[in-house]
Amino acid sequence: MLDIVLLGSGGSMPMPGRFLSSVLMSYKGRKILIDCGEGTQVAIKKMNAGFKNIDIICLTHLHGDHVFGLPGLISTIRNSERTDKITIIGPEGTGEILRALLSPITYMPFQLEIIDNIHQSIGITKSLQGLQIEEFTQSKSYDLILSVLALQHSSPCLGYSFYIPRKPKFSVEKAEFYNVPKEIWSLLQKGETVLYENKIYEPYMVLGENRRGIKVSFITDTRPIEAIGDFIEDSDLFICEGTYGDDRDIEKAERNMHMTFKEAAMLAQKGNVRQMLLTHFSPSMDRPEKYRQNAENIFGNVIIGYDGYMKTLSFED
Ligand SMILES: [Zn+2]
Ligand SMILES: [Zn+2]
Repeated sequence: MLDIVLLGSGGSMPMPGRFLSSVLMSYKGRKILIDCGEGTQVAIKKMNAGFKNIDIICLTHLHGDHVFGLPGLISTIRNSERTDKITIIGPEGTGEILRALLSPITYMPFQLEIIDNIHQSIGITKSLQGLQIEEFTQSKSYDLILSVLALQHSSPCLGYSFYIPRKPKFSVEKAEFYNVPKEIWSLLQKGETVLYENKIYEPYMVLGENRRGIKVSFITDTRPIEAIGDFIEDSDLFICEGTYGDDRDIEKAERNMHMTFKEAAMLAQKGNVRQMLLTHFSPSMDRPEKYRQNAENIFGNVIIGYDGYMKTLSFED
């Protein structure tokens, strides 16, 4: 349903065996990339993932370890005969920085749309041209819903959450109760209102109780601000920066606007997430696994990220 690959698990600079923190998500054959530090192309290649169908790139912020891979990546995609638009989303200032970063690229066979002023959720729909975005409205249904949260870092920074809504179960009892003709059951189940033989039928007439969707949230780089708890609430997977593993590095975390494993775990607990994946490790930390306990003392279901970590999230039965 939603395939997630942690392309890299490092912060600051790429290291041998540890690329920079970036996540590639695949949905129905199309892709969303979150962050693109130096070396992201190699990391994608290593995972045999392919570049051509990346439709949306979300940048958390404009520090080099999150964006310096973009000129190379865009340049490569350009050579893939792609003509479908690519959308890049980021915090304020993204447009200006990207125009400078990408200025050596003179020929662009596809449209590059840059959005750096998001104030509300975005609806994402899969079409023949890939994943398309539009402003979210309650009355429409989408494949994915993207939300953003302003984080607290040394540069304007956004947290992202992706939600795949799941349609409620079909209820034969309700359909029969409302005398809905069988011919239009599937249309109503898709959420359409139908006029049939001079009578209007609404989706609620065939739909049962709501079902849980899939939620993934991505929080890096930041201090652990209050608002994160609500933003990540009930995530199936909470991908979070854990720049420092050692609790004694708390002053460094405060000074550099990052988090320790313990602080990340406190957010996971507060947000009642199912699982936390830690990433964006400081180059000074050669074995993040060593500090696992500092997170697990607070929150039970922790994955210490590593390059190439993969997870598939599906709807529950
Ligand atoms: Zn960073
Ligand atoms: Zn940063």
